[in-house]
Amino acid sequence: MITVVNIRSLSYSGTTWINTVLGSHEDAITIGPPDRIWNICKEKNENDIANACLVHNKKCEFWPNFIKEYDINKNFFEQLATFSGKKVIVLNNPSKNFIESEMSSDKIDIKFIKVIRDGRANIHSAMRHHPERHKNVFEAARDWYIPAIRRLDKQVSNEHFLLKYESLIFDFGETIKRLSSFIGIDYSINCRKYWEYDHHLVAGNTGMIDLLQKLQGLEGFEHKRSDFYQKALKDLSNDNEVPVYDTSWQQTFSREDIVAYDFLVGSIHEYFGFERDKVSANEVYDLLMNQLICLKDMQSKNGNDLNQLSFIQRIKYVLNGTKS
Ligand SMILES: [Zn+2]
Repeated sequence: MITVVNIRSLSYSGTTWINTVLGSHEDAITIGPPDRIWNICKEKNENDIANACLVHNKKCEFWPNFIKEYDINKNFFEQLATFSGKKVIVLNNPSKNFIESEMSSDKIDIKFIKVIRDGRANIHSAMRHHPERHKNVFEAARDWYIPAIRRLDKQVSNEHFLLKYESLIFDFGETIKRLSSFIGIDYSINCRKYWEYDHHLVAGNTGMIDLLQKLQGLEGFEHKRSDFYQKALKDLSNDNEVPVYDTSWQQTFSREDIVAYDFLVGSIHEYFGFERDKVSANEVYDLLMNQLICLKDMQSKNGNDLNQLSFIQRIKYVLNGTKS
């Protein structure tokens, strides 16, 4: 039986790192989001094959050789397990097409892991990556975070391991022990040093992949957050027990951002075991009044003149966004 660890997570939840840690075992391999390599396997385009592995690039011997042998009519995981000699395959967030086509074999046992991170960090990253889409915390929470959390709930409604990213960061030993018994292989504490193992990631966070390359003495590449990962590289090189943990939201969130987050996400935040910020009723009142004032002179995304809305409709618009 092949074990497929199916990690489901929101964007910006540290998923590439979690993948890499769980791929750091002699019986496991991690591929990250599987759709890119699956398409390369099916299409067999020479250039894509040569650049399939984001860790070794053209020097990779793993994927080009696998793809040479890959048979489109056979199950992807059965072929990958045979080729790699691994019995645990770790991936995250596969597409519906991939699930329907590859994940119903009776030779695979799927283990779901639902990853949750402090939502303030998710929202902060989403705003940094897409400033045009997410103008402030209120809108990012309402229009992206809350709908995404609801989708995640539906995707992982069956038996699963709820993995708090922060638990793996701050209580690595205990969390990896619990993950070991859930997945069915014994991870040693050494999987924390993921760079001591071979990985052939084909998709994921480029900052994390760049860090892995540099820790393995490989070339790495330029990306937007070089400074952050340069510091992480230095920390890990000096003392490999220091977790790479990004708390930059704490420096950039204003008081209004904190109030907006707590007003919209506070109960979800608490449900997952995070401590809520202390916010007063007056602050919430001011937040909502500001949101109502912001609607003035604003055209909604579908072109309606929001000035024509009644007071109740305005309140609904503030609370539900474009869905109202
Ligand atoms: Zn490779």
